[in-house]
Amino acid sequence: VPLTTFWCERAWLGRAVSNVLVTVADGMITDVRESDPTPTAYRLHGMVFPGFANTHSHAFHRALRGRTHADGGTFWTWRQAMYALAGRLDPDTYFRLARLAYAEMVSSGYTCVGEFHYLHHAPGGAPYTDPNAMGHALVEAARTAGIRITLLDTCYLAGGLTAAGYQPLAGPQLRFGDGDVEHWHRRVSGLHGGDHAKIGVALHSVRAVPADALPGFADVARDRPTHVHLSEQPEENEACQAVHHRSPTELLRSAGILGPGTTAVHATHLSDMDIEILGGTRTTACFCPTTEADLADGIGPARELADAGAAPALGSDQHAVVDPFVEARALEHGERLRTGQRGRFSPAELVTAATSAGHRALGWHAGEIAAGQPADLVAVRTDTARTAGSAADQLVMSATASDVDTVVVGGRVVVREGTHDIGTVGRELAHVIEELWRT
Ligand SMILES: [Zn+2]
Repeated sequence: VPLTTFWCERAWLGRAVSNVLVTVADGMITDVRESDPTPTAYRLHGMVFPGFANTHSHAFHRALRGRTHADGGTFWTWRQAMYALAGRLDPDTYFRLARLAYAEMVSSGYTCVGEFHYLHHAPGGAPYTDPNAMGHALVEAARTAGIRITLLDTCYLAGGLTAAGYQPLAGPQLRFGDGDVEHWHRRVSGLHGGDHAKIGVALHSVRAVPADALPGFADVARDRPTHVHLSEQPEENEACQAVHHRSPTELLRSAGILGPGTTAVHATHLSDMDIEILGGTRTTACFCPTTEADLADGIGPARELADAGAAPALGSDQHAVVDPFVEARALEHGERLRTGQRGRFSPAELVTAATSAGHRALGWHAGEIAAGQPADLVAVRTDTARTAGSAADQLVMSATASDVDTVVVGGRVVVREGTHDIGTVGRELAHVIEELWRT
């Protein structure tokens, strides 16, 4: 029997409010009011946040967690390990891994994921019988894990950009490519979503799509959620300057790819001009602070971008950490370390970045506890050793994913007392990941 009322001891309505009754019909919130609990209401204790959006994910990277630190290395050596993993997955193993990676996300409070998907074809680059077998495996994995998904199918045509120009795809990258924009578009047209799934698009980066293909991509991307990795590493900027005599941001703008429907992921190494362009076009800036720290990428100018008009969103990217609270406060921690100032983003601004801004970037009208929004609710315990004593309005600065007690997606309770309804995620994840690295 679908639940119709949830009573929240406290709910986040832009600020912490006590005694909130949320009425739900067909998975959507129809009414929110201050009220004592009614006899039939499902009680949510602690603080109830709207569902968090994980705006940038590569689900298979979950199998790299805790395995890339032995001998230091660089972003580029990390990428070699990622490619080795990419070479091993097929639609069946990817479904099993992604289902568990998404279940971990839901257990942590994420109720929507933007999956930046480029692992399309069989090893060597031949299409599967269903050319979208991998994408459909991800959509199905999200459904079984109880998370909303925007599948951002990624155009990936070149193996890299150096001062000498674009490199051909090689090795595991052959699985990513469709040859040209027309073939990529044709394949993407065959993808289907569902109630829980939307289909968007992504441009891997200016490294992976030659400049002469950008206008064709922009035509396909119009009116769809569009994401692009942008200036994560200085090398990308240097190569782009050497070949095109402009920054990646300037190149994307001239191709018509920036705008309110577009999200620039990382936005780490930017010039003042880049910040002005991203802000002026109202492009969303998706930061992945735990990944950017893990990969030694650097710290992007998040406050400057926000002030210019580029709203921040947040993603866990390679999933070294899957925790919406840690991700949100890592954005503020980066600002503090970078500038020597506290309070660059208020706790309320961090919650907005982690909820409604991320959902908007993924094409969902969600991320607020309000009538007309999906009933996606995350109840966080306020009586754990970590959260005890925190001011309700500042809980985003102290809570962790381990404090998530109940998660409701579309009015359905998916996580209760910290346990996902598919069972113990950790043991199954260990099994799938060990198997992947063994074969
Ligand atoms: Zn990424």
